[in-house]
Amino acid sequence: MKLLILGLPGSGKTTQAQKLAEKFNLCFVKTGTILREMAKTPTPEGVKIREALDKGELVDDLIVARLVEQRLKDEDCQDGFVMDGYPRSIHQIQTFDPEFVKVFYLKVPEEEVRKRLIQRGREDDTPELVDRRLQVQSKELGEVLEFFKKNGELVEIDGSKDEEWVFGQIVNQI
Ligand code: AMP
Repeated sequence: MKLLILGLPGSGKTTQAQKLAEKFNLCFVKTGTILREMAKTPTPEGVKIREALDKGELVDDLIVARLVEQRLKDEDCQDGFVMDGYPRSIHQIQTFDPEFVKVFYLKVPEEEVRKRLIQRGREDDTPELVDRRLQVQSKELGEVLEFFKKNGELVEIDGSKDEEWVFGQIVNQI
């Protein structure tokens, strides 16, 4: 089973993706976490990733597409996976397509995600970076949603409801 959870930062993607991976015994792949680890290495690629993260910009499409392709070759992903954070642009899915069977979009108003992110307080959740990430990702997300809508794999879920309700809705569709 190859699943994708889409949504703005703060929409609850990671929480839901982790619960799904656990329930169905799938591997959980979160690009944000992999990239934050890679950003600690003092290689040219690590430095480039660090710069993008520090500015709230997206990391280079080819770097991300390549790392996802590699990760999905790992033994633990052979029975399926739940993806969190990829693709974030049309160019990424054109570069490497994981062939998702279902795509869930957690729809949450921008004001609500801004509030949630500032409360969460991760390193990149300062008000300025939150605004920049939302600005960059809203546009790209719209294009990615269109792509999956056309392919008929998209299921939209009201992500502003509570965690258990959202999870139930997702599970009902699987
Ligand atoms: P996240 O933890 O999913 O909110 O991702 C944190 C940051 O990692 C994002 O703001 C981006 O800078 C970067 N990132 C995560 N996934 C991608 C991706 N697919 N493409 C480009 N940048 C990404």
